[in-house]
Amino acid sequence: MSRIGIFGGSFNPVHCGHVRMAVESREQLNLDRVDFVLSYNHPLKAHDDQLPFATRWHLLQGALSGMHGYQVSVLERIFPGPSYTIKILSLYRRRYPEDELFFILGAADLVSVPTWQEGLRLIEYAGLAVVPRFGVGLQETADTVAQSWPDAVRKSSTVWDFSSGTSLHYLDAPILDISATDIRRRLLQGKSVASLVPFCVERSLGPLLPLLRQVKS
Ligand code: ATP
Repeated sequence: MSRIGIFGGSFNPVHCGHVRMAVESREQLNLDRVDFVLSYNHPLKAHDDQLPFATRWHLLQGALSGMHGYQVSVLERIFPGPSYTIKILSLYRRRYPEDELFFILGAADLVSVPTWQEGLRLIEYAGLAVVPRFGVGLQETADTVAQSWPDAVRKSSTVWDFSSGTSLHYLDAPILDISATDIRRRLLQGKSVASLVPFCVERSLGPLLPLLRQVKS
């Protein structure tokens, strides 16, 4: 039996916050691997400043090259329609029936899970690995669990067990105030994004600037 992390995102572009949270999840939850599931058609994001799927995929591949245990999944490219997380998790469940699955997300996103398509049912398919973000931390996580899954049992200060057999783990990870929105803004302003994105991503983003300007316009 393997333990698999599923990390969904638009990765527009991938940045150091993403890579670090995958590393923290893998180490703290003892995961065999983390799959970055690149959204093709994100239902909650504007598409007017989205780099093409192939470009985001290429940047992700570069960011993860040489990192054992981390890979890019193109699941979303294969299945048409909006990239609903519930769809991804049910596909993983079917594909890996014996394995333990964890969906990785930022705490600021966890608080909105109840509004996602079948959001409350995510825990039927996978556990949750929650990473602090943007001032949203343990208290907000506890409040969300209490309101959304009232029968969850708090096993420790950072772990809740759900009646579905999965658990939520709030990770002790450094708060990295980095977002893809901020990276895109800096690039369009002609500023450096050094150390905010992996070096190979920084190198690839320079030539992509005209494309970024084009998708933004
Ligand atoms: P954008 O700024 O374009 O909205 P983003 O930086 O939030 O993008 P996404 O690809 O949407 O990046 O993020 C995928 C997942 O990673 C989400 O669950 C998000 O909360 C989480 N995440 C992204 N960056 C961080 C970070 N710096 N710290 C913690 N979680 C993060």
